[in-house]
Amino acid sequence: MPLLGAHMPTKGEPASALDAAYHLGCEVVQIFVKPPIQWTAAPITDAAIMAFSNARQRTNLKMVIAHAGYLVNLASARPDVLLQSRKAILDEMHRCHLLGIPYLVMHTGAHLGIGEKRGIQRLRESLHWLFDRLPLIHPVSLLLENTAGQGTCLGYTLGQLAEIVEGLPNDRVGICLDTCHLFVAGYELRTNESVNELAKLIENTISWDRVKLLHANDSLHPLGSRIDRHWHIGEGHIGLEGFRCLLSHPKFSQLPVVIETPEPELHHSENLQRLRTLFETN
Ligand SMILES: [Zn+2]
Ligand SMILES: [Zn+2]
Repeated sequence: MPLLGAHMPTKGEPASALDAAYHLGCEVVQIFVKPPIQWTAAPITDAAIMAFSNARQRTNLKMVIAHAGYLVNLASARPDVLLQSRKAILDEMHRCHLLGIPYLVMHTGAHLGIGEKRGIQRLRESLHWLFDRLPLIHPVSLLLENTAGQGTCLGYTLGQLAEIVEGLPNDRVGICLDTCHLFVAGYELRTNESVNELAKLIENTISWDRVKLLHANDSLHPLGSRIDRHWHIGEGHIGLEGFRCLLSHPKFSQLPVVIETPEPELHHSENLQRLRTLFETN
């Protein structure tokens, strides 16, 4: 059985998210390392680092992952937003480093009208900008997440993701696949054949070596709708059967799984249990 867990709210106190995750029976947890709709935040204090490290020991979670803030757009055509975004990611990578978090999940950004080709070019320039400012060996890798293709968002096809990461070392840039985003971007997941086909496509584009994490979210909207609304496991258009096909596949079933479904306090426990049951009956 792979590592299973959830995105947990931190309420300004990262250590508390670890305790909450532990109580849900999580083995992996995803958190924000700063408020997600703010550009900047106060530096992480030594006391917070200590509290986090104590919480890790206490909870013995196998894996902790960070998700970057929502304002960042590393493909922006606006020089001010682009620079602010690059600095924000650099800061978040530093925060991850301080907290001992090995992965920072990031959305691929939106081209906002300059076109996909130029957007991808700008994004790649941003990745190089970041790596030029980090030591060659850095304990934090970026994980680029596939998107739903809403608006002018980049990275909604596997081919595009492959273009974005081409030539960049695996240990610096990996991929996080989100089931809801894959599905609304047009990738069918509800039969064994379609999952097999998708797995082959992954190998031929980004390659499985790059894929480090699976976001398991059902989708409120149908296949190909390109609308990003996560829904409770088994209650959306992917459905339990879709998750069964996906999680019984030898490749997908090896990945750590994180849910990002609505209303964590009320529904995380049930959503996690549904996935656990699928793994156990495989
Ligand atoms: Zn996601
Ligand atoms: Zn989403």
